[in-house]
Amino acid sequence: MFDYIFGPVLSSRLGRSLGVDLLGGRICSFDCLYCESGPTSLKTMHRAVYADPDKILEELEAWFLQQDCPEPEHITLGGEGEPCLNLGLGRIVQKIKRIAPHIPLAVLTNSSLLADDQVQEELMSVDVVLPSLDTLVQQEVLRLNRPCKGLHVRDVAQGLTRFCRKFPGKIYLEVLLVAGINDTSENLERINAFLKDLRPDRVDITVMTRPGAHMQPAVPAEHVLNRWRTFLKGPRADIPGPGGPVSATGPVSPDTVLDSLRRRPQTLQQLCLGLGLDPAEAAVLLDRLEARKMVRTIRDREQKFYTSIRNGK
Ligand code: SF4
Repeated sequence: MFDYIFGPVLSSRLGRSLGVDLLGGRICSFDCLYCESGPTSLKTMHRAVYADPDKILEELEAWFLQQDCPEPEHITLGGEGEPCLNLGLGRIVQKIKRIAPHIPLAVLTNSSLLADDQVQEELMSVDVVLPSLDTLVQQEVLRLNRPCKGLHVRDVAQGLTRFCRKFPGKIYLEVLLVAGINDTSENLERINAFLKDLRPDRVDITVMTRPGAHMQPAVPAEHVLNRWRTFLKGPRADIPGPGGPVSATGPVSPDTVLDSLRRRPQTLQQLCLGLGLDPAEAAVLLDRLEARKMVRTIRDREQKFYTSIRNGK
């Protein structure tokens, strides 16, 4: 039903978040080991109209005309890749603010394009930017985020700093820690020093909670996480809980479920909380989709995740 709108999905950082995919495919400047959307198919720093802004905006308007949609807590530009790569970003941001002025607009970004003056300008009317910066050690970036050739984390950090200085909205920085890669003392010291200057509104220290494109979750030990959370004294590293429960909104089409699972693997509970589904009905639907080989399950730490076969994983 929709190519670019998915969810709402339950986000630990934004509550019930209606996703807007600005790429329509796995297009990103990184190919992170932990990516929930699968391996990057086009790795690039080149901005282009990868997805037609008019089509995206038409879909969003149509989504809001649905009678039974659960109200999202945020509209989030993200999807299967780096949203700032879409050259239509500025127009999309402006129009979404007119379509849904009452819902905060958020952008997930890996920070790699924030040094671009035009990207900075296009993001100025957004309410929340959630940049990620997993490590300030270039060797760790190469191992974990696997960016486009020639991209140095020093330049990414400078771009992020310049952007934060002029951006009037909220900045929620994410540092995702993977055991044995970026949970090092060297990284902790560098990020701590960097944050003193950056002063984001919030720092979220996160870990892999779902199977990644190239690896299963490798979560640092509790004492390591505590060290990071204690050390980063400035803004607290709290992660907000998910939004309150939504009541079931009735039958949801298999396409809506598949579109949501294509962007991220989810448990039955996460899917139901995000989309406002009745768990019993959703379980029947998922069984049917699994039997038709349209979804498959992944077991991870006693949890069963569903993912779309279109993920290619
Ligand atoms: S996690 Fe984000 S930055 Fe990394 S490859 Fe996936 S979409 Fe790109």
